[in-house]
Amino acid sequence: MANEIFAKGATERREVLKGAAGLASLVGLQACAPIARGSLSSAALPSSSAPRLTPLRIGRDQLIDVKCCLRPLRAAGPNLGTEIVGDTLVIHNYGHGGSGWSLSWGSGHIAVGKALTVLPTKIAVVGCGIVGLTAAVVAQRAGLQVTIYAREMIQQTRSFRASGSFTPDARVALVAPAGPGFGDLWEQMARFSWKAFRTYLGVQGNPVEFGDSYQVSDTPIERRKWPVNPSITDSFETKGLPQQNSEFAHFSERIKDIVPQAVPLAPEENPFPTAYATRSSQMHFNFASYGHILLREFFERGGRFVNRDFSGPADYATLPEKVVINSTGYAARDLWQDKTIIPVRGQTGWLVPQPEANYGVRYRNVSMMSKSDGVVVMNTNPDIGDMLGVGNSMELPDRSNIDEALSIIAPLFAPTAPKRG
Ligand SMILES: Cc1cc2nc3c(=O)[nH]c(=O)nc-3n(C[C@H](O)[C@H](O)[C@H](O)COP(=O)(O)OP(=O)(O)OC[C@H]3O[C@@H](n4cnc5c(N)ncnc54)[C@H](O)[C@@H]3O)c2cc1C
Repeated sequence: MANEIFAKGATERREVLKGAAGLASLVGLQACAPIARGSLSSAALPSSSAPRLTPLRIGRDQLIDVKCCLRPLRAAGPNLGTEIVGDTLVIHNYGHGGSGWSLSWGSGHIAVGKALTVLPTKIAVVGCGIVGLTAAVVAQRAGLQVTIYAREMIQQTRSFRASGSFTPDARVALVAPAGPGFGDLWEQMARFSWKAFRTYLGVQGNPVEFGDSYQVSDTPIERRKWPVNPSITDSFETKGLPQQNSEFAHFSERIKDIVPQAVPLAPEENPFPTAYATRSSQMHFNFASYGHILLREFFERGGRFVNRDFSGPADYATLPEKVVINSTGYAARDLWQDKTIIPVRGQTGWLVPQPEANYGVRYRNVSMMSKSDGVVVMNTNPDIGDMLGVGNSMELPDRSNIDEALSIIAPLFAPTAPKRG
């Protein structure tokens, strides 16, 4: 029934959009939907080719959680270095910014590779967030016995307060501290992870899935660029915090051969009542089933979990395992006195799962993705960009920010929403 209603509403909207397409030639609309005239895409499509999306139920009555968390942005990128504490080799694996889920396999692969160089039979992993648990499984798959020591198991960690998409270069490093060599390391981690996640596609419980992700807008969609602002003379180097967006490193161009890119939609392909739209396919992670599957593999391979709180590096040397992977995320800032870790606050709202509507939308400053574990909503400020939340270590949720996001995006799903823009 809901499908029928939406399909009818969509037909009405498409009629409106057809009108808009007619107007487009007058107002230069074609510039934002640059599908070549006569190309297969525009010539072969039926006049009304927008997909019939099941509308998402957007409203405060659907809101079941608001979570807040800190991205562990490390200025030079994740720490994968090693150090000796007493008689123990510590291999670091922390500081993945807004990319910890996305880089977890590649990063774990590198950390375990370093552990294997001293030929251990058993190792410890400190930390059971997505980075530590994944490294533990990588080590087991390489034949090692693994004990995880941590204050919290994955479900209670900051990792479970993320949003859960493949975003491998989100707030992952700053250009100058990371240096020119980091791009190659990042690419190695991103490609390895992408391949590893693909092995979970189609697995029962949908731990990893693809969904269509629409960016819709009332004005032409352009990729925002952040050139250096010469009037800002301070930087991470002088202040210990980035001062402008151009300090953030971005690498996604390096893997665009494997990661689906956004394509502009012609008006008749746009299922939303906006003048402009793009569509891409987004890989995302369903925390509940993914966490269970990883933990199950860890325990089935004989892994042990020990609940333990570490107060400093010296504690690592008291472990019976003499090779330890340190995956303590943001906590490494105090635990290891790594003050190059910068808190980047972020929060997500969660609506009741709506598995019948498996897609995401970005509109104005709000992004939303419908996943098996809930519809995740984020309210960002495009004018602030990567600087949003930088240096803010306040981890209490602010519900009003999510309420605002819902009120911004709800009109897109109103059955008779008028065309905007
Ligand atoms: C709003 C938001 C959205 C995000 N979205 C995404 C996304 O879409 N995709 C993506 O890839 N990334 C995303 N991230 C980033 C991602 O959440 C982090 O990079 C990731 O969670 C880091 O994982 P971790 O395992 O290193 O750390 P944590 O999850 O913090 O795990 C640390 C572990 O160490 C243990 N520990 C810490 N201190 C001690 C101690 N003293 N003694 C014992 N144990 C200790 C903890 O108990 C825990 O087990 C997002 C982050 C935020 C804030």
